[in-house]
Amino acid sequence: MKTALYPGTFDPITFGHLDIIKRGLKIFDKIIILLAKNSLKNTLFSLDERIFQINKVIKEENLSEKVIVDDFEGLTIDYCKKKNIYFIIRGLRPLVDFEYEFEMAMANREMGNDVETVFILTDQKYFYLRSTLIKDIINYGGEVSDKVPQIIKEELLKKLKKN
Ligand code: ADP
Repeated sequence: MKTALYPGTFDPITFGHLDIIKRGLKIFDKIIILLAKNSLKNTLFSLDERIFQINKVIKEENLSEKVIVDDFEGLTIDYCKKKNIYFIIRGLRPLVDFEYEFEMAMANREMGNDVETVFILTDQKYFYLRSTLIKDIINYGGEVSDKVPQIIKEELLKKLKKN
């Protein structure tokens, strides 16, 4: 069975991420979504909130048998070594992602030569979709139904009210 790791922040998970996951499942039997416990990034949603949201979305999409969520404190490559995973999936959007993703893939290769990073392109309609953009749109009253699942939209609105 071929398992791949899909690491990221997922703050929150979007249709862009989901598209990568679904495409990834054409290549791999199982995907583990990995959230970093020690991320230096300032996130809108806590780790527990993001895990809860992703689990809910996975269930709604009927992907529970093939996709699981985990969190880890440390380097992605160390998680791979610990769990015997040999593939990392990353999504690529036009232009901006390339340099960062290239650097990260090279760094991971240096630390773990057995692990291959596999890049997947999303559907064109999600090319310019990023979590930060969604947060901005919802903040100013815009519509995000075509960008995130309904449950995520609700969570965003809840958070907005709280803040
Ligand atoms: P990170 O903080 O590691 O960039 P993200 O949650 O932002 O985590 O993204 C995780 C992965 O999913 C990255 O490889 C990112 O490039 C990819 N990704 C995010 N949104 C999209 C999208 N709309 N299309 C393709 N890939 C995407």
